[in-house]
Amino acid sequence: MSRADLGRRVPCAVCGFEARSFGYCHQLRRDRHPYYRFCSMRCLTVGSANAQRNFGMIDKSDMEMRAIREARRELAAALTEMGLMAPFFDRPTADIDRVIEACVDGFQASMQRQSDAGDCPF
Ligand SMILES: [Zn+2]
Repeated sequence: MSRADLGRRVPCAVCGFEARSFGYCHQLRRDRHPYYRFCSMRCLTVGSANAQRNFGMIDKSDMEMRAIREARRELAAALTEMGLMAPFFDRPTADIDRVIEACVDGFQASMQRQSDAGDCPF
């Protein structure tokens, strides 16, 4: 990884927010394992622990499913605050998760596009 790559704005490997100066490469073997960047010490801790369990690769599938599940509470709180909870109240959890996934996917895709274009995402 070059200095220019390190200076490039990229999304955090865990949450998708803009990565800052936190990085991890399994066993420090950049020739064998990907170098991941993170937004915070919290994401670095989570991401590096995940990579250590998965031979240097971050497997987000379990984390993503859990994050979506745990985001339901925040979504319900926001909908309740705005008086919008009624239409969601009797919906199956799969529908609720679809709303959360749509927001997260849209957010991450935009962060990735802006990073690829070299724009400041904020
Ligand atoms: Zn992060």
